Amino acid sequence: MKASEHFRILKRGIGLLYELSPTYTAFSMLEAVVSAVTPYVPIWFSARLVDAVAGGAPAKTLAVYAALTAGFTFLLGALAAWLSGRRVVGNEEMYVNANWRYAAKAMDMAYSSIEDRDTALLRERIQNETRTGYNYYFLQSCLTGFIRCTAQIIASAALTLSFFFIDSIRLWMKLTLAAGILLTVIVSAFFRSRVEKLQNRLFEDLVYVNLQANRLSEYKTDYAAGKDVRLYGMAEGIGKRYLALNEATLRKYFVPSEITGTFMTFPGKVLEQVLRFAVYMLLIFAALRGGVSVGSIARYVSCIALLMAAVLGLVDSVQRTLVNDKYLKRYFSYFDIPNEMYKGSLTVEKRDDNEYDVEFRDVSFRYPGTQAWALRHVNLKFKVGEKLAVVGMNGSGKTTFIKLLCRLYDPTEGVILLNGVDIRKYDYDEYMSLFSVVFQDFKLFAVSLGQNVAADTGFDRERVNACLTRAGFERRESALPKGLDTPLYKDYDKDGVEISGGEAQKIALARALYKDAPFIILDEPTAALDPVSEYEVYSHFNSIAGDKTAVYISHRLASCRFCDKIAVFDAGRIVQTGRHEELLAAGGGKYCELWNAQAQYYTG
Ligand code: ADP
Repeated sequence: MKASEHFRILKRGIGLLYELSPTYTAFSMLEAVVSAVTPYVPIWFSARLVDAVAGGAPAKTLAVYAALTAGFTFLLGALAAWLSGRRVVGNEEMYVNANWRYAAKAMDMAYSSIEDRDTALLRERIQNETRTGYNYYFLQSCLTGFIRCTAQIIASAALTLSFFFIDSIRLWMKLTLAAGILLTVIVSAFFRSRVEKLQNRLFEDLVYVNLQANRLSEYKTDYAAGKDVRLYGMAEGIGKRYLALNEATLRKYFVPSEITGTFMTFPGKVLEQVLRFAVYMLLIFAALRGGVSVGSIARYVSCIALLMAAVLGLVDSVQRTLVNDKYLKRYFSYFDIPNEMYKGSLTVEKRDDNEYDVEFRDVSFRYPGTQAWALRHVNLKFKVGEKLAVVGMNGSGKTTFIKLLCRLYDPTEGVILLNGVDIRKYDYDEYMSLFSVVFQDFKLFAVSLGQNVAADTGFDRERVNACLTRAGFERRESALPKGLDTPLYKDYDKDGVEISGGEAQKIALARALYKDAPFIILDEPTAALDPVSEYEVYSHFNSIAGDKTAVYISHRLASCRFCDKIAVFDAGRIVQTGRHEELLAAGGGKYCELWNAQAQYYTG
């Protein structure tokens, strides 16, 4: 990576930290400075104290020095504790904002990107890298380290500078010492960078190990997986795999890296102590000749040791920042994924008469990253107010047709027109607001029943109740302890109620009705319903849909008899259209084939 690239990422990284939590960023930096300078207070005052004792100073002066040492150390300690408290609060803010950033990005992405496997993997990977310690948290710790070490270097230099002006130590000795310091720093930095690389390799692999380990432990605690785990006795197997994974990780990575890491720091440590010994000898030699006070000996030795540690720390911070760049880059690459959906600006004409017409003109579609056509040359027109049924075997393209209509994806070829205008030209959010859809894999949330129906925290209770009644949930609702305020599921509330698949489908239907959009689309709306409820939905379908345009996907053909028009899908194409009677009268064809296949269960 080029230096300019490093700077660019660093700048963006600092901007990100500030965006996530200015409090955390500011207070951790201040804390770093305070904790860096704190050790110098006792060093400096102790030297004065020893010199005062050696010089036969009165007891009062000694007491003042002792009090000043304790007092300043205490004050700095208290300041550091206060800053640390503020930093911890900021950390929380950072955590929340970082999570929110993911949510905001997901909402801003094209739906196709969310569904895309590579995007999902990228997101999981960067989230895991954060958990393992990389990207923005790592940058934060590198920056803090950088500031702490810089403050320490300045403080050490200030307290050791006079060493180089001691007359009784010869110049060549001073120069040898300076060279020794430099050599120690270079040797230590070299070996440390090897350790850093080793750890980096370890963490890189750990990202994946963590991913697998998390999945395995989630299986055991996940409510949804709980049934299968118990019935098929999978708990022990999962537990064993989890333990084996941990043990293998320990054997493969931690133990060797710890051992190698320890050995690699050895040369630097030896040199450091040799240097310390040399400094002692020089100072003792100078002290004996009367050129250095006794107190200064301890001061110089401590400060030179701290100086070296700080220089090393600084080199470390820079090295780690450079290593971290590739993680930050990956982090940003996720947030930089563009939303390639063309977002038009035309306003959708609000029509009181709900007179909209929709046309699919030679539409073909392939899911991103796939070769097979999910839809091929689809031509279809339908008018608002009409009830359109979409039928066909599994995988024939029915749901894809709906996803395209709602602009979750754009066609690969062809156009979809609303009142004669390409739907891409309309304002995206406004266009979306035209549709109420109940997908097969709809999702309800662990909030109250009323909020689920209204998809909002505030709602019109009467209207919610009316929608639930139309969706056939009335009887179940009356049995709920807190009515509309009953929380669904027990995720966040012990008073929450668990609901069956069929009940959930009715609530999802009520949510679609509450939205009161001109189009209502139901994808297999009765799949999870019992026969009685299913019959209710069929027979009330016209009143449920009212004057709205309804698209009704079902592979139960009996339910489509009520529709004005039926489109029969087969392998991504529309092979027949017409009313139920017309299609049956046509004799042969896909519709008859499907109808006969089902009829045998009803008549036989
Ligand atoms: P239906 O609703 O009729 O059961 P779908 O519209 O769901 O059928 O699927 C049509 C085809 O598109 C199938 O071959 C299916 O495997 C494929 N498909 C559906 N969703 C995706 C997706 N997200 N990515 C790739 N292929 C998909």
